Amino acid sequence: MNTQLAIETAVCAEHERLLAECERALESWNEHRAEFSVSRLSGREAGDELLRLQAKYARAYTVLQRHERNCLLCQLMSGAEGLASANSSEVHSDSTRYV
Ligand SMILES: [Zn+2]
Repeated sequence: MNTQLAIETAVCAEHERLLAECERALESWNEHRAEFSVSRLSGREAGDELLRLQAKYARAYTVLQRHERNCLLCQLMSGAEGLASANSSEVHSDSTRYV
């Protein structure tokens, strides 16, 4: 039971960093998007910047997901949640076997 508590309160520093990066990227993308629609900028530059921020967020999110898959600590921390998604992907791979 002590082990369980330790796992639940443990924090993966790398995950925290990646998550913060991801959130920051999403925030600036959202801000830019809001600005874009308010000012109705149609300039190519503004659109490019929006795409750049979107790509930055997508990249940060991909890195975060990859870390979650490969990091033992994160997998321990996700616990039941991880088991649930593992089960659903198992069902998925079962159904694709019949196709
Ligand atoms: Zn981790």
